[in-house]
Amino acid sequence: MRPQVVWFKRDLRVQDHRPLARAVEQGPVIPLYVIEPGLWAEPDSAWRHWSFVRACLVTLDRDLTRLGQPLVLRKGDAVEVLDDLRRETGFRALWSHEETGNRWTYERDLRVAAWAREQSVIWTELPQNGVIRGLRNRDGWSAHWERRMSETLSASPGSLAPSAVRSEPLPREPVDTLQPEPSVQPQTGGRDQAVRTLSGFLETRGIGYQRGMSSPLTAWESCSHLSPHLAWGSLSLREVVQATRERSAGLKDDPCVEARVWRRSLRAFEERLHWHCHFMQKLESRPLIEFRNLMSACDGLRESEFDPVRFQAWSRGETGFPLVDACMRSLRATGWLNFRMRAMLTAFAAYHLWLHWREPALHLARLFTDYEPGIHYNQIQMQSGTTGINALRIYNPVKQSLEQDTEGHFIRRWVPELGPVPNGFIHEPWQMPIPLQQSLGVRIGQDYPAPIVDHLASARAARQRVIAVRRQPESKVESRTIQKTMGSRRGARRRRSTVSTQTELEF
Ligand SMILES: Cc1cc2nc3c(=O)[nH]c(=O)nc-3n(C[C@H](O)[C@H](O)[C@H](O)COP(=O)(O)OP(=O)(O)OC[C@H]3O[C@@H](n4cnc5c(N)ncnc54)[C@H](O)[C@@H]3O)c2cc1C
Repeated sequence: MRPQVVWFKRDLRVQDHRPLARAVEQGPVIPLYVIEPGLWAEPDSAWRHWSFVRACLVTLDRDLTRLGQPLVLRKGDAVEVLDDLRRETGFRALWSHEETGNRWTYERDLRVAAWAREQSVIWTELPQNGVIRGLRNRDGWSAHWERRMSETLSASPGSLAPSAVRSEPLPREPVDTLQPEPSVQPQTGGRDQAVRTLSGFLETRGIGYQRGMSSPLTAWESCSHLSPHLAWGSLSLREVVQATRERSAGLKDDPCVEARVWRRSLRAFEERLHWHCHFMQKLESRPLIEFRNLMSACDGLRESEFDPVRFQAWSRGETGFPLVDACMRSLRATGWLNFRMRAMLTAFAAYHLWLHWREPALHLARLFTDYEPGIHYNQIQMQSGTTGINALRIYNPVKQSLEQDTEGHFIRRWVPELGPVPNGFIHEPWQMPIPLQQSLGVRIGQDYPAPIVDHLASARAARQRVIAVRRQPESKVESRTIQKTMGSRRGARRRRSTVSTQTELEF
């Protein structure tokens, strides 16, 4: 009997893996992972992604080996690898999940599809989350998401027939240009860690989710940290949704305060799992938003004014704004940051520094272990004011600092040169009198940078420029079209009158 190939991509597990389960029903299976040098050489790839993926490949191989057929690893261009394998084994059926990736993976998939047609190989791609291929209109999308998330989980196969297909060793790095970052401690990958993280969150840490998610001090403990597991597929989204609902059901009739807090947190968490696919759907429907403003009326707004000196300062965590710098430095070291601080970093680059979003997006993509193109580019554009359908949110970096890190613990941890600065000045160290700076040994402009911009003036100027674009009649027409084809249907009526000029500016 001819074998079939199951191609693992961003779905590095055997549990709730529809393509694997379906292929096994048809006959023997070759589980394949292709290490693609072209993909790993892209400007949005980073060693921390590979380090996570590598750990996932180890547990995937272990789980497949237990079933009877280890993972087959091959390095090279996907079409060439598949073609070699077809010649070696005569396979005629290829199975995988649908992928909503970056342009590189999209174009690779087009090449694989063309090759499959030429070779009479049947390539079956199955959905792995709530994203719908070929969607034209968002009406009814939430109901569809609900149906997908409620489907029974696919059981992992009972066994796999062994084959003699050769595998290559798992390399330390996929391309020479991607070298380990010794001072970085990104999250650990792999199925075991994924399961531990999920149960730790649902049993213990999640109680603090709703209250703790915004401050970088509490978010580390309170947020789920499931994002890289969802991005690289060591857990399926359906598994996480169903486990969350099971946990909520167990708390349903419990009247105690603790159970009420849990229920609120779990509701907020599940809403974000919904957002996961809501945002990915937008990239699936409009892949060009990886490169272009979603609202074309914003074209030309920032592009020609890109200031590399400002970009360098931002990307190194040297802007002179303590919370902004602490967030960037902690992200560089750990590969993770909570949502609000990601939004603040992005908005600071887009508004205060007036940087077009593409370079900051690539920089952050390389720093986030959980880099998920569908969520990433949408969030970047939302926080940069270029979607046309979301309120402008311009974070005041000093106000955020006062609110989210009142006593400066997070700042002092990640910006140690500000260690001796008293609480009264930790959020605005440039306000320290010179004699105090000298006595503390923290001279602004020497030991720590002076603020790179006047944050109030630059926020006001940025707001005026973006609002001017949004007020143009053509922008309003365009934003209505975007809302119709891509916007969330939740709260759409409320938004209709304010869609293009609503702002939230913090002073
Ligand atoms: C500029 C910017 C870029 C981002 N880039 C990414 C990215 O590349 N990959 C990524 O997974 N998330 C991204 N996010 C969304 C969010 O910040 C992260 O999902 C979250 O911080 C991950 O931590 P967690 O798993 O503990 O999240 P939790 O708060 O525990 O949420 C659980 C899951 O819900 C999903 N989720 C949470 N918040 C959002 C959101 N706002 N939008 C969509 N899905 C969400 C994620 O899958 C997350 O793992 C980005 C946010 C911003 C502002």
